[in-house]
Amino acid sequence: MIDAAIFGGGPAATAAAIALARRGRRVALFTRRANPAFLVGETLPPAADSLLARLNANPYFDRCPKMESLGILSSWGCTEPEVQDFMLQPGGRGWHVDRKALNQALLDAAADSGARIEWIAGRARVSRAGAGEWLTGAGPARFLIDATGRASAYAFPGSPSHRVADMAISLVRHWRSGSGESTYSGWTLIEACEEGWCYSAPLPGGNIVASFQTGPDWPRTRPAGWDAAWSVLLTQLPETSRRLGGAQPVSDWRLFSTVSKTRSAFSGPGWFVAGDAANACDPLSGSGVVRALRDGMRVAWAVDCALDGDAAPAGAYDEMQRAEWRAYLTESRWYYSLESRWQEAPFWRTRAAES
Ligand SMILES: Cc1cc2nc3c(=O)[nH]c(=O)nc-3n(C[C@H](O)[C@H](O)[C@H](O)COP(=O)(O)OP(=O)(O)OC[C@H]3O[C@@H](n4cnc5c(N)ncnc54)[C@H](O)[C@@H]3O)c2cc1C
Repeated sequence: MIDAAIFGGGPAATAAAIALARRGRRVALFTRRANPAFLVGETLPPAADSLLARLNANPYFDRCPKMESLGILSSWGCTEPEVQDFMLQPGGRGWHVDRKALNQALLDAAADSGARIEWIAGRARVSRAGAGEWLTGAGPARFLIDATGRASAYAFPGSPSHRVADMAISLVRHWRSGSGESTYSGWTLIEACEEGWCYSAPLPGGNIVASFQTGPDWPRTRPAGWDAAWSVLLTQLPETSRRLGGAQPVSDWRLFSTVSKTRSAFSGPGWFVAGDAANACDPLSGSGVVRALRDGMRVAWAVDCALDGDAAPAGAYDEMQRAEWRAYLTESRWYYSLESRWQEAPFWRTRAAES
């Protein structure tokens, strides 16, 4: 009998698998074979270090290609970028990582901790086998954890559907850096414009990621194509344009949903949800990976206690998730309220209405 079957392959699933396996629990981690050109979520704030250390995953993280992240420059509500220096936070610096390598490092840490890795295509088959037991492709399991990110691929009996707070998308592309990068090296740049906002950040190995966040209708209303629309956008994004000076694209555009959504319950009889599958936040928060690692550890604690017959931590886990969502909403509304230059533009009007 497996103690926990975990679905996913990102920081939430792997952190849960590491933490449970290290407690001596039998864990099967069902993850998908997919090889996209790149993954998003490549900038880690300073808080990531202590979480990776608590998971004893630093030796694996040390092997990942990465570079120091010095902080954030943001042209948001102003034209001159404001500086948020990580030097002033505990830890003193974050990281720009190769996100595929980070996921692989955490997966290796989970396997070496004793979790069984089950590679699947599509969705794993799961069914209720009776009270207190599930049937999975790796045998019967006591608990299931959905940590499949925004896809939230598993609907468990009694698991509520999501409540959507904000519809948005991100268009993301990798670039080979050119001469413009030297001014910004090591920094994440955030820049608002009439149609949304853009972030760019260095990647280990000399590339840059640039990601444009906007409303869900944007791609459909750009019949001339994204390259042409991006050229127009750059005229509204002077700092980003300067950074990408001389840069050449090294990937196609990828489109990601950045819908913000939550649930009314995060656990039920025999199941839990964690990471973006629980609360999915705007990338503006810049904390998705840290939240996912923390969720993985918390859900492991709740499952570990439940396996010993103590259900109280599951209730505490739900309450923590609700509190985090409230805090995220407050922070996000405050942050969007700081930008008042395009109050009549649809992207900003929608966000002002939500605050
Ligand atoms: C454009 C963009 C930029 C971002 N930038 C940052 C950033 O700079 N810093 C930051 O901290 N956060 C950032 N985030 C957020 C961050 O990427 C996420 O919050 C974080 O990755 C969530 O981790 P997770 O483990 O919950 O889910 P994910 O990392 O999404 O992992 C989900 C995993 O589940 C797997 N999966 C999917 N379906 C199934 C299935 N049916 N069965 C099994 N496995 C499945 C997937 O293959 C994947 O491995 C960004 C998000 C976006 C969209």
